[in-house]
Amino acid sequence: MVSNRLDSGEHLTGNTTMSESLREDMEEPEIIFIGAGINSLGAALAVAKEGWRVLVFDRNRTPGGAVRTMELTLPGFRHDIEAMNLSLFAGSPFYAEHREALAEKGLDLVVAEHSFGSLAADGRFLGIGTDLEANLRAIARFSKADAKAWKAWRTDYDRCSSVLFQILGSPAVRSGPLELVFGRNGDLPPNVATPLRGILLDSLRANLGRRFQSDVVQALIAAWAMHLDYAPDVPGGCWMPFLETNGDERNGIPIARGGSGNMIRAIVELVREHGGSVVNNQTVEQILFDKGRAADVRLAGGRELRSSCGVVASPASRPRRW
Ligand SMILES: Cc1cc2nc3c(=O)[nH]c(=O)nc-3n(C[C@H](O)[C@H](O)[C@H](O)COP(=O)(O)OP(=O)(O)OC[C@H]3O[C@@H](n4cnc5c(N)ncnc54)[C@H](O)[C@@H]3O)c2cc1C
Repeated sequence: MVSNRLDSGEHLTGNTTMSESLREDMEEPEIIFIGAGINSLGAALAVAKEGWRVLVFDRNRTPGGAVRTMELTLPGFRHDIEAMNLSLFAGSPFYAEHREALAEKGLDLVVAEHSFGSLAADGRFLGIGTDLEANLRAIARFSKADAKAWKAWRTDYDRCSSVLFQILGSPAVRSGPLELVFGRNGDLPPNVATPLRGILLDSLRANLGRRFQSDVVQALIAAWAMHLDYAPDVPGGCWMPFLETNGDERNGIPIARGGSGNMIRAIVELVREHGGSVVNNQTVEQILFDKGRAADVRLAGGRELRSSCGVVASPASRPRRW
């Protein structure tokens, strides 16, 4: 029988770890982390490996934050209900450093034959994998002109992506890398500045409509804008599909065998192996300062804990409880 087990304790799969409770005799940690999401856990592992004594608190009953695997349908069928595309993780210096240790803990990243695709109501399907020639053949079945346009889309990416990443990685201020694209100094050659202006300002419909003819090819790309809530006619809706379709065609989309929660479980196990503690079901209500230094935390229920070096807060989540 199909069941939706969102509200029971059994549905949590990869994220489930041996539960650790907060003991009275717990040694004073050097660093307290608030939140056991991927960012906090990654940082906690980095410093625990350097010999720091870390204590990580999460208010939920399992760690992972927005990286979560659940059995929502049939027992044994695991679903990543939030983050599942681990391409940023797989390309990170963190993964490069911990790859082997994580693999020993069971983290196995796999790339599907088609990382993304478009399925039309009449059954037509276009799937994109990491083999460029196969992709061009598949696109040409919808439109030969679009196969050519796909190559131009790739060429624009090769020329523009470094500037685009510079813009995305900069503070949102008026000066800076945006001036490279929109300034009058002519810093960028026209074959970079012109496509970039389109990617940054056009609506999806306008940009893709100029480049591609087939509705299936356009939908394939446009889906990545919907992912960030850009409707077809919203200006600026192209940058995400531009990055995602190009990046994924080159590298594929790695997902974790058994669910993203396995990544969290593996990192938690490593933190513990390095002497750290990850304690669930504990909400930090307040950070307490000592001579201007974030030193202690007050937990729900009133207990206070001291850290000898500091407190790191990474509680990004919307208020979700699992
Ligand atoms: C629906 C969805 C899909 C996504 N898909 C992808 C994807 O495919 N690929 C990708 O790369 N990224 C994806 N993301 C983004 C990615 O999941 C987040 O960027 C990432 O998980 C953020 O990690 P974090 O550690 O900063 O915060 P979070 O994961 O939000 O973790 C913060 C933790 O802090 C805990 N916390 C908060 N307040 C307190 C408190 N007072 N005391 C104790 N604990 C507290 C929370 O319970 C939570 O566990 C997605 C996000 C969402 C929401």
